[in-house]
Amino acid sequence: MGTREHEIYDVVGIGFGPSNMSLAVALEEHQANVPARPITAAFFERQPAFGWHRNMLLPSTTMQISFLKDLATFRNPMSRFSFVSYLHESGRLAQFVNNQDFFPTRQEFHQYLEWAEASLADKVTYSSEVTAIRLPAEAGPGAPEYVQVEVRSAAGAGTRVVNARNVAISTGLVPRMPDGIPSDERVWHSSEFLEKYNRMDPDQLKSVAVVGAGQSAAEITRFLYDMLPHAQVSAIIPSYGYSVADDTPFANQVFDPSAVDDYYFGTERTREAFWRYHKNTNYSVVDDEVIRDLHRRSYEEEVRNNKRLHFLNLTRVDEVKRAGSDTRVVLHSLLDSEPQELDVDALVFATGYDTMEPTKLLGDLDRYCLRDEAGRHRVERDYRLVTTSDLPVGIYLQGGTEHTHGLSSSLLSNIAVRSGEVADSIISRRTDRELEQEIAETVSETV
Ligand SMILES: Cc1cc2nc3c(=O)[nH]c(=O)nc-3n(C[C@H](O)[C@H](O)[C@H](O)COP(=O)(O)OP(=O)(O)OC[C@H]3O[C@@H](n4cnc5c(N)ncnc54)[C@H](O)[C@@H]3O)c2cc1C
Repeated sequence: MGTREHEIYDVVGIGFGPSNMSLAVALEEHQANVPARPITAAFFERQPAFGWHRNMLLPSTTMQISFLKDLATFRNPMSRFSFVSYLHESGRLAQFVNNQDFFPTRQEFHQYLEWAEASLADKVTYSSEVTAIRLPAEAGPGAPEYVQVEVRSAAGAGTRVVNARNVAISTGLVPRMPDGIPSDERVWHSSEFLEKYNRMDPDQLKSVAVVGAGQSAAEITRFLYDMLPHAQVSAIIPSYGYSVADDTPFANQVFDPSAVDDYYFGTERTREAFWRYHKNTNYSVVDDEVIRDLHRRSYEEEVRNNKRLHFLNLTRVDEVKRAGSDTRVVLHSLLDSEPQELDVDALVFATGYDTMEPTKLLGDLDRYCLRDEAGRHRVERDYRLVTTSDLPVGIYLQGGTEHTHGLSSSLLSNIAVRSGEVADSIISRRTDRELEQEIAETVSETV
């Protein structure tokens, strides 16, 4: 897409994962209803093409939400961007229904997102990383009407600046490695798994280990066990075994759109209760099916008396010693006072992600953004950062709002409704601004 240099866009979206795709859909559907009032939008994505957690598209892994929690259905069940619409267009609707499963594979969901992206491609520029948001250099006295978004092109086109009345930051989760352990060609974070795995000769992987007790850790352990029939596979688990993700109907209510209000308008104790009782719906837990699959493999080994799948429970990594292709992991088990050492050909840290944090992108603008007593950004119900009155520009967060909007902040569960709320807010604030301008002009004409 070609962005125009001097245009002030109504909204510039940073990142083009499912959250901002869903916003693009909401804006497009608004436009279809009110064609005379176009909202101008431009999105920037640092990847060279659309991709949703590509490095974790392992065979047979399934979604952890219903297919109905797609880009649009919960906001607009008639949307042409729904998963059902995609199935219909792909000629698979009947087979999907016959499959009687709410949870498609991640590969199929990725195909759905790619299908939706094809209709939105004119709004997004790829290989374009947003490096900063700042006040316009030429800003005069008074509150600035817009901000400048600095975009660095990986395609060698240098850096350019795009003007925005609103920005929607949706840069996603940030992979977390243990302190002092960098990833390299033998030590990987789960977010780079397939890319690094595919660079290896599988015959050279005779001993591999996976660190972590969450969904990605269990999925990677299962994948390595199945793909490397000659290899020793060790699962280094900080708990005494994998814990199950609670996706039963009552617990699942924490991801309902209405739960956002209960959380947002609740007291500190309300919010704390959400986390205390329902963290196990998503965090450091594993789907029942994957746990049973792994246990079945382990038990079959017991029966055959031939073990190559090892679960090192209550165990943490103390140190990783690297030299060429040699990797030695120093382990500390709560069941053993002596440290153990394990030599591996590849080590995967499925140690999770940090939540999205906009401070770095905001740079100097951050001083206009108000924070709570715990030092976290204050966020309006419509996902706009609370700013001082000298920054009337809307800075919306799609992600990173666990402290204000609850457990679904980094998930897909609520993206359709959230994007609709963000779009509504952008549109109604534009209407208010235009009305104010009209009144001011009328008053000055009268005077
Ligand atoms: C393996 C895996 C599986 C998951 N499965 C599920 C699931 O089944 N259900 C569920 O609800 N949640 C799931 N999640 C949670 C996940 O956060 C959501 O699925 C989803 O990715 C959130 O969408 P997003 O657009 O907010 O973030 P992302 O999908 O992470 O997209 C953010 C985008 O921003 C881009 N970006 C980052 N920084 C910049 C920048 N400075 N400039 C330009 N572009 C930038 C990134 O390249 C990325 O494409 C999963 C997460 C992982 C890691």
